[in-house]
Amino acid sequence: MIKFLDLHKINARFESQFQEQFQQFLDSGHYVLGNGVSQFETNFAAYCGSNQAIGVSNGLDALLLIFKGYLELGVLQKGDEVLVPANTYIASIIAIINSGLKPVFVEPNISTFNIEPLAIKEQLTPKTKAILAVHLYGQLCNMEAIIYMCKTHNLLLIEDAAQAHGAQDDNDVRAGNFGDAAAFSFYPSKNLGALGDAGAVTTNNEELATVIKQLRNYGTSSKYVNERVGFNNRLDEIQARFLDVKLQSLDSDNDKRRAVAKQYLQHIENKKVTLPYYNGTKNHVFHLFVVLVQNRDAFIKYLKDNGVEAAIHYPVAPHHQNALKKYNTLSLPITEKIHRNCVSLPISPVMEAFEVERIISLVNAY
Ligand SMILES: *Cc1c(COP(=O)(O)O)cnc(C)c1O
Repeated sequence: MIKFLDLHKINARFESQFQEQFQQFLDSGHYVLGNGVSQFETNFAAYCGSNQAIGVSNGLDALLLIFKGYLELGVLQKGDEVLVPANTYIASIIAIINSGLKPVFVEPNISTFNIEPLAIKEQLTPKTKAILAVHLYGQLCNMEAIIYMCKTHNLLLIEDAAQAHGAQDDNDVRAGNFGDAAAFSFYPSKNLGALGDAGAVTTNNEELATVIKQLRNYGTSSKYVNERVGFNNRLDEIQARFLDVKLQSLDSDNDKRRAVAKQYLQHIENKKVTLPYYNGTKNHVFHLFVVLVQNRDAFIKYLKDNGVEAAIHYPVAPHHQNALKKYNTLSLPITEKIHRNCVSLPISPVMEAFEVERIISLVNAY
């Protein structure tokens, strides 16, 4: 069986370095917000090209802390509208709602799966205060158009970079460094994945960084001095150390993902399978390789019967979930088509050539 994602194989490559880090961690006697976290923050900020990286508990909390930080600073007010792609993972939307803000669903582009700048324009109101740009499946959004729109309409630009660690544009600007602030998740399956939950915020705004550092640690400015009613959203020390080890291989891992994607794109030829758009640059890190197939259950069963595990990201559109009842009646035809037909083929930095070839010939024979 070719697994959809072999996490053990991904992490086994780092086993001896992890063990070394664990020993250092144990010996340090400093188990929360120690050197591991600050070292990783320094290295991850440098990697993204941003002034600040703040390690936090997970990707959802990274998004929440950005919104709550802006509320604390008075830059956002409760009830403000945040534009968000309708086909994102639901965490992006939950973060907006749980911060007391209002999500406004925007249709994606059917080829890139990313938020469509022309559709953004249609949703602008005087209450629109921010765009949450999600680099879905690892591909950068059309940042030029989105940055222009944010400038002309005075909107905050927040990136959900949970699937796009290391994606970069032609000027080498990386995900996490395009807007006012960005949220990363290091959930184990992400391109940079911990061995548990972890996340980070990147920003060049020192004021916001200071507030978020306080909020993640009960609102504390220095020991037992509380400036705000904060949370416990700290990045775990051991996860930070593991992430610091894996950060060194992120670029080469992303190269390997792109190599698999290029093979799929070059060699899959089947009218029933619509391949994803890719411009051939480093603007895509292929967190997922998503194709569109009508009657996808039959396709997934065919793959499974032939020893290949596929997945769906995601089976139900957020606005059709019970959790978002008041949005259930929205009509978002492009989003709905993607959610009806999307299938994720295996992709990872540890796939063997024969596995990729096997999948290509299977898909071509479908
Ligand atoms: C994974 C993910 C999140 C949430 O990250 P967690 O670490 O699981 O909380 C948010 N947004 C997107 C687009 C994601 O893929």
